[in-house]
Amino acid sequence: MSLELISLSIIVVWGLFMIALERKFPYDPQRFFRRGFFTDFVMYTLFHSWWLGFLIAALIRWVDSSSGLSRLQLVSSWPLWLQCLFFFVVHDFYIYWFHRWQHNNRFLWRVHEAHHSVKDVDWVAGSRSHAVEILINQTIEFAPIALLGAAPEVAIFKGTIDAVWGMWIHANVGVKSGWLQYVINGPEMHRWHHGLGNPKLNYATKLAIWDWIFGTAYNPDKKPKGYGFTHKSHYPEEPDFEPGTGWWKKLARLVIVYFDQHATMFRPFEKPIHAKQRAPKEAPPAASAGPTLPVAR
Ligand SMILES: [Zn+2]
Ligand SMILES: [Zn+2]
Repeated sequence: MSLELISLSIIVVWGLFMIALERKFPYDPQRFFRRGFFTDFVMYTLFHSWWLGFLIAALIRWVDSSSGLSRLQLVSSWPLWLQCLFFFVVHDFYIYWFHRWQHNNRFLWRVHEAHHSVKDVDWVAGSRSHAVEILINQTIEFAPIALLGAAPEVAIFKGTIDAVWGMWIHANVGVKSGWLQYVINGPEMHRWHHGLGNPKLNYATKLAIWDWIFGTAYNPDKKPKGYGFTHKSHYPEEPDFEPGTGWWKKLARLVIVYFDQHATMFRPFEKPIHAKQRAPKEAPPAASAGPTLPVAR
């Protein structure tokens, strides 16, 4: 059996395991076929990963053929376990800071808001990310592996871990991992990242240590009141289908929503409202209000 097939089998089995855990130990009462489920599963999990995988691989091949970097084989003499560990930790550190930046920069927030638009976080919700975000993050993740001359197994290991961990941290599973939550991330912490009313944000995805080290960990002994955006959102949502709607019609609607969700990134920014315009005449002058970032909490 090829490594690719082993990886695919692990991902499928893990997905089924997550579904079973969600049924047995749910964190929140949620429907399995919740709103947006089909967009996330058909368009993001299957279609999105397929075409972006091709594009990113082609981009990395092009960079390599123009630069010849992989011929230097800079890490190829390292043992396989060290290559895996090195790329795992370095990329996880990068993703912590890039993710944190995305929540604090209005342009970068536009490529991240898709991920926070899900109102019922579950095993498949993590796949909803804007194509530009995937393009940036996965190119930065996989290009160094190829260009530094790592073993091909490293990319397969990383891809499998990404898929498995992505399902796990979003899973609607009521788990208490004790001391492990200080080391590795799971649903306890990441569901709060998507939760409403989160004063800090758990930015880490795999290693929870970054949040504890850099003071952004948040894991109170209560549950979020909901998920998604705090502000009124015009984010395009999957429609509630009328009973009896045909499969082709449903699929066409999913495709339209998928493209709408991507196009919404390019909407104009709201103009900042100056305090003078908002305050009544008799009120004391207020501090000027800068542009507000629609932070998902
Ligand atoms: Zn986020
Ligand atoms: Zn997430």
